[in-house]
Amino acid sequence: MGQVVSILIAVVAFLLIYTLGVKVMASFSRAQPPPAPAGELRRVRLTYRCLVCGTEVRMTKAPSQEPEPPRCCMQEMDLVANSDE
Ligand SMILES: [Zn+2]
Repeated sequence: MGQVVSILIAVVAFLLIYTLGVKVMASFSRAQPPPAPAGELRRVRLTYRCLVCGTEVRMTKAPSQEPEPPRCCMQEMDLVANSDE
């Protein structure tokens, strides 16, 4: 009988921690700023290069003309070309 009670307590504790975790995750995702509406995005032509691995990416749309550089290899990528038309 005592075993059943401790199993029940373990299950209830697990459910409590689980629902708490889900709520925390939900509040985190709600804290993210909503994406800007498509109409507010600017067309850009920015080329970034990662100095660590050499990856190059081109950004074609951004919320501003000088957006935050993307990250690669745990650091911000270097802006190598800004050719807006
Ligand atoms: Zn990289």
